[in-house]
Amino acid sequence: MLAFPSAYSVGITSLGYQVVWSTLATRQDVDVRRLFTDQGDPPHRKCDLFGLSLSWELDGPVLLDLLEQQRIALWSHQRGEDDPIVFGGGPVLTANPEPLAPFFDVVLLGDGEDLLPTFINKLQQVRQLARVDRLRALAKIPGIYVPRFFAPRYDKDGTLLAVEPIEAGIPNAVTKQTWRGTSLSHSTVITPDAAWPDIHMVEVVRSCPELCRFCMASYLTLPFRSSSLEDGLIPAVEKGLSVTRRLGLLGPSVTQHPQFSELLHWLNQDCFDDIRLSVSSVRTATVNPELTNILSRRGSKSLTIAIESGSERLRAMVNKKLIQEEIFAAARYAREGGLSGLKLYGMVGLPTEEDIDIDATAELLLELKKTNPGLRLTLGVSTFVPKAHTPFQWQGVNPKAEKRLKQLAKQLKPKGIELRPESFGWSVIQALLSRSDRRLAPVIASVRGSQNKLGGWKKAYRSAREGDLSTTNEQALPLPPPPAWQEVVHESWQASRVLPWTHLEGPLSQEQLIQHHHQALNQSVGVAAAKR
Ligand code: SF4
Repeated sequence: MLAFPSAYSVGITSLGYQVVWSTLATRQDVDVRRLFTDQGDPPHRKCDLFGLSLSWELDGPVLLDLLEQQRIALWSHQRGEDDPIVFGGGPVLTANPEPLAPFFDVVLLGDGEDLLPTFINKLQQVRQLARVDRLRALAKIPGIYVPRFFAPRYDKDGTLLAVEPIEAGIPNAVTKQTWRGTSLSHSTVITPDAAWPDIHMVEVVRSCPELCRFCMASYLTLPFRSSSLEDGLIPAVEKGLSVTRRLGLLGPSVTQHPQFSELLHWLNQDCFDDIRLSVSSVRTATVNPELTNILSRRGSKSLTIAIESGSERLRAMVNKKLIQEEIFAAARYAREGGLSGLKLYGMVGLPTEEDIDIDATAELLLELKKTNPGLRLTLGVSTFVPKAHTPFQWQGVNPKAEKRLKQLAKQLKPKGIELRPESFGWSVIQALLSRSDRRLAPVIASVRGSQNKLGGWKKAYRSAREGDLSTTNEQALPLPPPPAWQEVVHESWQASRVLPWTHLEGPLSQEQLIQHHHQALNQSVGVAAAKR
């Protein structure tokens, strides 16, 4: 059974989910059924494996609802010999699986291309063994994390000291796996019921070389890789266009592909006149008239760019190599190319941010509106949330972000600029899930079924702090209460702190991340001093 923690339309639009499903479905020795929150394939009489693909923190707790629905014990250590092996993968679990770790038997860290077949092959080899021995065999494979063979160790005051293997033969650390092939993934399912109906998605690049200091899509998936144009992209696009005329080019920064202009040129042929083309992410500095022209000719109405902030100082601090002129040029090219809208993405609550930086974002949007009459402007704004394996993993959520979201709304809405703010309250829960360790598991168990109520999270966390979650805390080992909410969500942490994911190795070492963190904060001081 392969589950997705959301509705069919959302899950089937996830390229990651599709790829895992097709990898399993094309094997002779696996009979895979799909499960979404609103529908699923007919279940097996006996299920050996239950997988979950997770790409958004707030979807994580849905795992428990799905397990309950399938009558699978929630906690890994409560599962018996005949119960399915519950495994998970995807960016959220690769970054920090610890809050959900007690519910998983196995977590696959990193790219699935090699790792998933290795996992299934090993399971087939050891299927006659007792459950614990099957898991032990898996735990010795690079990239396969079996949480039950690791235990957190705490100081008397509840400080995390280490997450260590509990028996000999289990490696001290598990390393994320990286796919290094010449082609990346593309859709294997095209359906009118997807969130983007009938779209054929092609992954153009993986990771991003820009290294914006907050960005998990870049840092966690390094090194930057691009699909070969001749052997990867063109055959993948042609395959999809034989059954649909809607094409989506995907990746954290699609226009960074070294042959992107050749790809555009190829898509500009007359035979593609009837396709509808969308590009998931465009680096602002790479927007040019050719791109906006072809997007407009191929049915796109708008262009989306991420600026993060209107403040030059903040953009320099987060390593966004983007100057004001490039933002204005992108807007002008969008308008002149025939697009009717420009969507900009920004953040509030970035480290070192002041009210004046929010004013700079508002001023930038107002100036863009003035210089581009007729171009519909939309600003999507999220609150900065620290992510594991990025240089800003030590930074907390700034409580002032909530007020700053309102400040932006006040400055922009009356001037006709559409503002789409993400909920500050849910960004806080996202940070809780992103930064916690296994002590969050009973809280997740307690809120299951009503995890979409903000108040429930705070109440459950308070109960966990007071040691009052005995009915939901069924972990194998008793753990101390979780740290204060303020400490997990809002405080900036010392670089020397043992992180819940220290035993899981990402692409860059802690030393490299610390160095990038220092560079960012020093950059900020340098720019501020230069302006005085
Ligand atoms: S340019 Fe975008 S994808 Fe690349 S590192 Fe920056 S935020 Fe991430």
